[in-house]
Amino acid sequence: MKAAVCRAFGAPLEIEDVALDPPGPGQVEVRMAACAICHSDIAYADGVWGGDPPLVLGHEASGFVNRCGAGVGDLAPETPVLVTLIRHCGDCPACAAQAPTSCAHAWDTPPSPLRDAHGGALAQGMKTGAFAERVVVDASQIVPLPEGMDMAVASLLACGVMTGVGAVVNTAALQPGQTCAVIGAGGVGLNTIQGAAIAGAKAIIAIDIADPRLDVARDFGATHGVRGDGPEHAGTVRQITGGRGVDYVFVTVGAAAVFEAAPDLLAPGGAMVMVGMPPSGVRVSYEPTALAAMNQRLLGSRMGQSVPRRDVPWLLEHVAAGRLRLDPLITGRYPLAQINEAIAETRAGRALRNVIVFED
Ligand SMILES: [Zn+2]
Ligand SMILES: [Zn+2]
Repeated sequence: MKAAVCRAFGAPLEIEDVALDPPGPGQVEVRMAACAICHSDIAYADGVWGGDPPLVLGHEASGFVNRCGAGVGDLAPETPVLVTLIRHCGDCPACAAQAPTSCAHAWDTPPSPLRDAHGGALAQGMKTGAFAERVVVDASQIVPLPEGMDMAVASLLACGVMTGVGAVVNTAALQPGQTCAVIGAGGVGLNTIQGAAIAGAKAIIAIDIADPRLDVARDFGATHGVRGDGPEHAGTVRQITGGRGVDYVFVTVGAAAVFEAAPDLLAPGGAMVMVGMPPSGVRVSYEPTALAAMNQRLLGSRMGQSVPRRDVPWLLEHVAAGRLRLDPLITGRYPLAQINEAIAETRAGRALRNVIVFED
């Protein structure tokens, strides 16, 4: 089968013939229908989070069940499914507490089912490797989808949507009438805005450094758009909130300076939710006394702390009701052979989500 292989950090991906092991016990083989390009794929391809090339990236994916390994009972062939990177054991204390994104085994790297055409090692990026015609993943990474969905649209649920909406409803547990700021109006930021609207936020202040993105943010439910590159934006946020600041600030970008400044926007008792991820090793500083005296909190949010088989059906209900818009998040559809162009457009900030669409 064909896959887009990252041979060296920072280099274009190479379309190669690769080999894929059959599914073992507890695993599922999925024929890919679509895989969106997430900024995490680009960060990994650039080597900012470590890892070992060669590897196959791609983790925001949808497809059809091809076959199942032993012990996977409930997935018939051709079932449409979402493929996520949330591999979880189901047995550890975190899984028992409905927190699969904190699974004690979340950082274990299973043996890769991939090899290159010469039998050489090929890592499975983010335990998924969906920039390929097929994947073999743990059954815990699969969520069944309704029949007949546009699979490119569905693929967005696997990371960007789950991460943005989940940051609001799972991590922050934002209550109706509360206020928030969302820094970064890209793919994840727009889903954070949609999540805040669904949760009933009174003010949803989008902050970005580009006016066209603020316009898009308003289309997705932001009540205000504020340029984040001026010195006065913290003052503007205070003005909008009657001098109080916001109950939550969601940081959906990966710039360290943004993480350092974001708590300045918070109301007493507020929390910064850290959704974006700067490169490994980046550090920022805070004055603990300022946060402690104001009862403020810093909350990490990996994949929106989602529980895929609980959250995806709920998200699909909002999609069906028109409260969660996915179609306008797709900027372009590309065949696997043009993946480097799709990545270049994403890198240049000209795409919310570009999606690789596989031929049936
Ligand atoms: Zn992602
Ligand atoms: Zn677990």
